[in-house]
Amino acid sequence: MQFKDFVSNDNVIADISEAAEKGTLPHAILIDGAKGTGKRTLAEILSRYAVCTAEHDRPCGVCPGCRKALHGNHTDIYIANGENSGELSVDAIRRIRADAFVKPNEAPMKAFLLLNCDKMLAPAQNAFLKVLEEPPRNVMFIMTVTSANMLLQTVRSRVRLYSLFPAEAEDAIRFLTEKYPQSDNDSIVSAVRITSGNIGQASEIIEAGGEEAQLLAQQIIKEAAFGTEYDLLVLTNKLAKDRSFAVRTLDYLVELSACCIKASVGAETNNKTAVDVASRISKKRLMNMNDNIARARKVLKTNINMNFFGTWFSSVLKA
Ligand SMILES: [Zn+2]
Repeated sequence: MQFKDFVSNDNVIADISEAAEKGTLPHAILIDGAKGTGKRTLAEILSRYAVCTAEHDRPCGVCPGCRKALHGNHTDIYIANGENSGELSVDAIRRIRADAFVKPNEAPMKAFLLLNCDKMLAPAQNAFLKVLEEPPRNVMFIMTVTSANMLLQTVRSRVRLYSLFPAEAEDAIRFLTEKYPQSDNDSIVSAVRITSGNIGQASEIIEAGGEEAQLLAQQIIKEAAFGTEYDLLVLTNKLAKDRSFAVRTLDYLVELSACCIKASVGAETNNKTAVDVASRISKKRLMNMNDNIARARKVLKTNINMNFFGTWFSSVLKA
């Protein structure tokens, strides 16, 4: 079985592959995990597996079935998304139930994706239970939810559960580097670190060109290196608004400052801000700034008054 775009979670891949090979893939699968861990990606891979007409290594990605599925217009794949109002209501589930007994149009199997079941109400779950108890042939049901515990025990007992976790850092970096060839390595690495390997969240940060904290960190280090005291103070005062935001910004600053030092000794870095800063101030000044950023990161762990922190931080950065 092929798992294109699905990262890490090797035990899940191994389990599903083995079942697929033996022909024992269950007719009802539940995928749980935090937002961004790949639930929908896996659900879609399984749905392509259901409609792929290749002999081996399904989903092949090239047969007419796979191609239609990849374009989102395969008539044997039905998607109901709990984030859209009414799509997982009792009535909607009854329609799905009836439809499940109709033979596939063209594919070997029909796939029903019930995505984001977090708010699926008990009556709808009970309606669904009936079809899980006596499933029609050639049908695969794939549900996704943040935590399996949000569903009724009766439903959980009739599905095979696969739990997803954030990716290993190395896997995440490799995947995101391929996905975003334009992004520099440092932003990818810090996005992975900040999100602890959550591919979905890291992608969002990269697509946004860095989150607010990351952008602020870049501005602060530039102003500290070659801007005015006043402008730096305006920036560091933005840290006062909330402590966790300040912590994230300081995390980025710690990394950014390490990049500047790397750049100053001629080591390779794709981080443009770091290269810019390193080329304009002395190594001694950079080391000093690096120490003060590390110190500020520690100070944030104490009970410091956040209004005072902005002023203090600005003054030590300019020292
Ligand atoms: Zn195929």
